[in-house]
Parts: sequence; structure tokens; C-alpha cells
Amino acid sequence: MIPFNVPPAGPGAQQYIAEAIASHTICGDGVFTKKCNEWMEQKFGAKKVLLTTSGSTALDMAMLLCDFEKGDEVILPSYTFSSTANSVILAGATPVFVDIRPDTMNIDEQKIEAAITPHTKAVCVVHYAGVACEMDTILAIAKKHGLKVIEDAAQGVMSTYRGMALGTIGDFGCYSFHETKNYSMGEGGAILINDETMILRAEIIREKGTNRSQYKRGQVDKYTWESFGDSFLPSELNAAYLWAQLTVADEINEDRLRTWEAYDAALSDLAADGVIEQPHVPEECVHNAHMYYIKVRDLDTRTSLFERMKEKGVLTASHYIPLHSAPAGLKYGRFAGEDVYTTRESERLLRLPMYYGLSGEDRETVIRTLRELIA
Ligand SMILES: *Cc1c(COP(=O)(O)O)cnc(C)c1O
Repeated sequence: MIPFNVPPAGPGAQQYIAEAIASHTICGDGVFTKKCNEWMEQKFGAKKVLLTTSGSTALDMAMLLCDFEKGDEVILPSYTFSSTANSVILAGATPVFVDIRPDTMNIDEQKIEAAITPHTKAVCVVHYAGVACEMDTILAIAKKHGLKVIEDAAQGVMSTYRGMALGTIGDFGCYSFHETKNYSMGEGGAILINDETMILRAEIIREKGTNRSQYKRGQVDKYTWESFGDSFLPSELNAAYLWAQLTVADEINEDRLRTWEAYDAALSDLAADGVIEQPHVPEECVHNAHMYYIKVRDLDTRTSLFERMKEKGVLTASHYIPLHSAPAGLKYGRFAGEDVYTTRESERLLRLPMYYGLSGEDRETVIRTLRELIA
């Protein structure tokens, strides 16, 4: 059976974890957390990066930092993971869903302005499959209407838009290091803070509402409960595991890109014949091969293709059920405008096996099996 995903592991992971144990600091913000934070700050050019317990809690932190009031609204796509909308609700605001573009599956920047009301305070974009949203347009809209911009870059670690790392373009960026992502610490994530004036508040929210980070730096002589917060620090054991991959981050990225390019080349004739659609990567975007998907005619075609691939030993995966039509979406949010593409395109999408270390042989089996079944 060819799996859909295999969690990534970097060289020396066990040794780093052993070092963390031997250091007698296994709680958060030890040596390995600092290494990961600083590596990301340098590599991506972020003002501040803080590891978190998940991509979801990185989003929670970003939304809490926006200081919403009851009745405030946040614009986001409906085609995303539940975490994007959960964070909005946790911070006391209302999610307002906007349609996606069919070519990238990202929020349609042309439909954002029509969804803005006097209550709108932020836009949360999701860089689907590690391919950037149309950020120039989105930043211009945000500036015109005084909105915060949060990037859900859970899938976008190592991707860029016009040369800028995803997660460093808006006010806050959120990465995920879940085992299904390009780089992993089991469960974990990071928040990127691009507005310097927000760094201290972010540290306080992350440390249970205390100024413990300042205390540890010797900037205050005792630490106290300063504001509302929670515990968003991951254990050093998880950070040590992640560190092993960051040391070979480019190699992991290139390995995934090779698989992606091979899929894309091998299926291009089917796309030219109109049998499937392939992912679109706009010119200004460099992606990280987070995902390779195809789109087939409709839901029934996808369901049978998934089943028959599985019978032949290849695991594929569909993706999000649009949030606005899910029970919690109906309860907490609303869709602004018309759902032209969100539901239709989501039903046609099928993801192929994609992970660091997928062998050339297995990749060819995936391609051959898919081609046989489609024929
Ligand atoms: C994975 C993912 C998340 C959540 O990340 P976790 O680390 O699993 O909490 C949020 N948004 C998107 C778009 C994701 O793909």
C-alpha cells in the first residue's frame, strides 16, 4: 500500500531529543525552541517567530492579538480547515466566508471588498497547497479599510510571494508543524509577528498572560500576571524533533518538489485532453510542493477514483468540506456573496500521495495506476 502521507523525520532527531532530555529542560523555550525560532527569523526574514503548540493555536494567538470586540467580523475563505474559523470565534468575532478562485483554490481577492461591512476588522487568508493568495491586492484592500491581515500559512512554510516568505507579508503569519505538513514536530506550529509593537504582547499571551519572557531575559526582576493569556509553548522534545528537519530544510523542499514536478509532467497530456485539471501556480508564487492535487469531472468521479485507487494499493485523499455548509459554520458564521466555486471545486479535488522520501518507484506506481483508471 502506498500511503498518502508519511511524517517527515530529519537526521539526528533521536540525538537531539536525547540532548533535550539530558539538559533537564523539557518544558518550552529551551535551547531547541530558540534554535528553531531564530532559524526561521533568519531564513524567512520575520521580525519575530515563536513556536506554538499547533498551527491552530498560532492562529488563536494571532486572532487574540487583534483585540476583537463582540460583533466584529473577520473575512476568510470557506474552503479551509476548521482551525481558521475556530480562532476567529475564540477571539470573540464572527467568521464571514468568501468564495474561492477556481484556479488556486485561494480566497478570491476580487470578492473581498463586497464582503466588508462597518464591523469588518481583519482578513485571514489561507495559502492553499503552499501557493500564495494574491497578496498585493489583499494588502491594498486591507490598508484602504484599516483591516489587519492574518496569513494562515500552515501549508506555506518555505513558499514565497514576490520573493517574500509566506507568513511574513501580513501582520501575523501562522505555520503548522503537524505530522501532515512539510516540516513536523508531531503537533506544533509557529506564529510570525511582523509588527514589532506586537511582540511583547504576543510573548505575554503565549506565557499564560505573564511577562515571564522578559523575566528570563533579565528585563524585569519578577514576573506577574499582566493580561489574558494561555499556554502556547511546545515542549523541547517536540522542538528537538523539528530542529532535525530544519537543518535539512532545503533538501526536504527539493525532494518534495521533484515528486510534484514528476506528477505534473506525467499528467499534463490528460489535462491537455480536458480529462483532468492540474494545479495552477501564478508567476509571482514559488511553492513548496505541500500538495499535488488533480480535479476530475465531479463528486461521483472523484469518489470512484478514490475507491479504485485504494483497491489498487494507492491512498489518495479528498479535502475540506466547505465550512459554511458544515454544522458549526451554519451556527457561527455566514457566507458573503455567492458560492460559485467553493462547493463545486472542493467536490472535484483529489490529492495524490506526497511526502518527503516518496520513492521514484512508488511515484511511478501512483502515476501508472491513476492513468490506467482514468483511461
Ligand atoms: C494544518 C492546518 C491548520 C492547523 O494546523 P494544526 O497544526 O494541525 O493545528 C490550520 N489551517 C490550515 C490551512 C491547515 O492546513
